[in-house]
Amino acid sequence: MTRVPASWIIVGYPSPTGLFTVYREGFMSAEIRTRVAPSPTGDPHVGTAYQALFNLAFAKSQGGKFVLRIEDTDQVRSTRESEQAILDSLSWLGLQWDEGPDIGGPHGPYRQSERTEIYRKHVDELLEKGHAYRCFCTKERLDEVRAQQGPGTGYDRLCRSKDEAAIKTHMDAGEAFVVRMKVPLEGESVMHDLLRGEVRKEWSLVDDQVILKSDGYPTYHLANVVDDHLMEISHVIRGEEWINSVPKHLKLYEYFGWEPPVFCHLPLLRNDDANKTKLSKRKNPTSIHYFRKAGFLPEAMVNFLGMMGWIMPDGEEKFSVETMAQNLKLEDISLGGPVFDIAKLRWLNGRYLREDHDPKALQTKLEAWSLNSDYYAKIVPLVQPRLETLSDWGRLTGPFFMDDVAPDPEAIVMKGKTTEELLPLLQMTLWELDKLRAFDEQTLKDLFSRLSETFEVKLRDFNGPFYVALAGTKVWTPLFASMEVLGADMVRMRIRRAIDAMGGISGKKMKKLEKEYQSKFGGRNA
Ligand code: GLU
Repeated sequence: MTRVPASWIIVGYPSPTGLFTVYREGFMSAEIRTRVAPSPTGDPHVGTAYQALFNLAFAKSQGGKFVLRIEDTDQVRSTRESEQAILDSLSWLGLQWDEGPDIGGPHGPYRQSERTEIYRKHVDELLEKGHAYRCFCTKERLDEVRAQQGPGTGYDRLCRSKDEAAIKTHMDAGEAFVVRMKVPLEGESVMHDLLRGEVRKEWSLVDDQVILKSDGYPTYHLANVVDDHLMEISHVIRGEEWINSVPKHLKLYEYFGWEPPVFCHLPLLRNDDANKTKLSKRKNPTSIHYFRKAGFLPEAMVNFLGMMGWIMPDGEEKFSVETMAQNLKLEDISLGGPVFDIAKLRWLNGRYLREDHDPKALQTKLEAWSLNSDYYAKIVPLVQPRLETLSDWGRLTGPFFMDDVAPDPEAIVMKGKTTEELLPLLQMTLWELDKLRAFDEQTLKDLFSRLSETFEVKLRDFNGPFYVALAGTKVWTPLFASMEVLGADMVRMRIRRAIDAMGGISGKKMKKLEKEYQSKFGGRNA
């Protein structure tokens, strides 16, 4: 990164044009570098695409670079499949990165699990400088402290004051430990957010954050700061949910003697409901896979995400990433909760289909989507036993080419169960489907057999409502093979819609159900 004395530049920190970052000690970075840093722990989320878009557009607008970094330090929840799905989805959307785990770059590796040595070295540095300490408190002790102090209180800092001899005794005994950073005990942290201005937080409200876990992996906070610095990120543009972490991050920058980047926290995407709740898959499709399967065009998706908190200066609603980059000023992003309104997305998608495609071009898009022999090859064996004429194809295969199959709620029934009794079974099945890593016929068959046993319902009867939820009719191709062809996202979406069509499950009942589910199945995916 080229750094030149601040006296060369006229505008202050941060520059209103966003053209240069002026660092506090008087240096500026001539290269704008942004990043998106997803954790590969589930389906590729539209929120990741939203952040990637603003980072990419801003980098493009400044002739800078956009980096993709995989934050997979959570060894339990991270998977390579999820990472691949994120890469595929962002590529499908055309949000191409300049450096990343697949293409490398000058600041690699770009996968945090391959950088553990780097983090350990930095943790050691903090320990040596006295900015961090080893904490040997057991989980039992921490639980006890929490129970005594009440909810919302932090670690009581018992290990912070331990002297070297005490630490040595713990170490010699081979006790497991985490490393915590020291945060100031009083005063307040002041940060500057590009959209919010000054944001203050009392240090007394900030915990001595764990930075290295007992498994030797860093936590998000340490790895994120170290990587943003080493990867020379000039602007951290990410979701609002991270704003509370900034005081700790700034402290780490200070402890290391590094200049922090410019922070810009994007507003959270919201469900289109009365309270504008945080976008959640319970209320809204959030997986990029779903949108692809449902026939949305990547250019419409990206355009729609660009409208989340930002508008073109001339008010034009249809725009490309290039046009967005030419017009984007980060400080124009509005903080008033952008609503992820599917009806609007459909409208926009329709505009692209009509305005940007002649029939031939549209045909090409349809072929790329589902009207192709690869997809047919999966369906033909399923319909063959049921065909009397070739034209039966249309009636039997409709659900493979649809989004909403609009099932009649009255027809979603399970033998011997009332609707009230059936709804929880559908919901718990949905949670179990959420947990599946593989989505093939055999896995689904095993799952449904297990569920029907747990719920004490014959498998045949158990499957009944799923035919209607997934195909809109009781007569369809074999259930599990058909589910495999539809894919996890479409299947879950249709079951969710069926639950809603049947009247849904109230918040209170859902809470009760979650408890029941916890005891029967041991919790669910976030
Ligand atoms: N790994 C974090 C996430 O999944 C990244 C947050 C950040 O951009 O700093 O959201």
